[in-house]
Amino acid sequence: MTTDLKSPATPDAAWQDDVRAGVRHVRDLDRLPLSPAERAAAQAAATAHKVRAPKAYLDLIDWSDPNDPIRAQVIPSPDELVAAEGELDDPIGDHAFSPVPRLTHRHADRVLLFPTYQCAVYCRFCFRKESLTSIGRGYTREALGPALAYIADHAEIREVILTGGDPLSLPDKALEEIRARIEAIPHVRLLRIHTRVPVALPARITTGLVAVLQGRLMVTVVTHFNHPREITDDVERACRTMRQAGFVLLNQSVLLKGVNDQVEVLEELCRELMYRLGVKPYYLHHGDLARGMAHRRTTIAEGQALVAALRRRLSGICSPTYVIDLPDGGGKVPLAASHIEGCEAGTWRIRGQDGEAREYREVVG
Ligand code: SF4
Repeated sequence: MTTDLKSPATPDAAWQDDVRAGVRHVRDLDRLPLSPAERAAAQAAATAHKVRAPKAYLDLIDWSDPNDPIRAQVIPSPDELVAAEGELDDPIGDHAFSPVPRLTHRHADRVLLFPTYQCAVYCRFCFRKESLTSIGRGYTREALGPALAYIADHAEIREVILTGGDPLSLPDKALEEIRARIEAIPHVRLLRIHTRVPVALPARITTGLVAVLQGRLMVTVVTHFNHPREITDDVERACRTMRQAGFVLLNQSVLLKGVNDQVEVLEELCRELMYRLGVKPYYLHHGDLARGMAHRRTTIAEGQALVAALRRRLSGICSPTYVIDLPDGGGKVPLAASHIEGCEAGTWRIRGQDGEAREYREVVG
């Protein structure tokens, strides 16, 4: 088996020091500057979801602040042990749309492909945490065989989305092999990579890594920044490396209570993504019904109010679309507060960004 995050050392593999010096096991929580009570609570909560964080990400935490937004994303909290009614093992219905192992086919022209169920960082809010625990395996050539055969048999598939687990936690050699195997399927046009690695382990984004992803397919990398403090000089360098390789960069965030549920935080995040990193804010996800996450979810109304306020401050290119991934595989649906107040005899009343309603009379041929 190819084991994620353990490829042989290479001259540009300084990122491996970040992995080794970070938290890889529950016992590594002992090395963090937590009080005895906090450590015991984190160890107990780690039974709900795996623990892992590279040193580069842990270094962003202000340990004097128990509510630090970076800490909230990676250090287990006792609140995760509280199961709320309505929470789900598979919040967006991946399994119901999985005709073969390691693949989800929900929409005709695209599939999710899971080359690994391991990550560089285990996020406390992860909606796939049950799969990461119950399946948990890394990449092997054989494991991906049925999924790739399925893609080859379905000519309507244009986009392959590598997700996870985190695909960029795999060694270059495995990624090169996966890219080449997908590229060999003629009807596939786009390779999309969903990853937290540029956020949590930016040193992993090397020239060698981007080189193995370059080929016939258009490459889009969808990053996962949730807070402006995650944007550092190293992250900037990582994103520049990917942009210079010709990759399209988009970001999806999750709206998390106590992390980024303030308009000022989201505004700074979106501006820095676009202006500093060249990463287009793409989606802002309403919190999925992942188990033990009630303490991090906002209401939809709170999310809509935040996004309406955000939209008044930001240009279109800096504004993400607020979406919910519906349970049972209903897909992503926009949740932006409606600007439409009504329509009568072809005249619409539409609320502008300034809050004022104006009339818009349709003129059609
Ligand atoms: S990197 Fe992605 S798949 Fe992995 S734990 Fe975080 S959110 Fe989940």
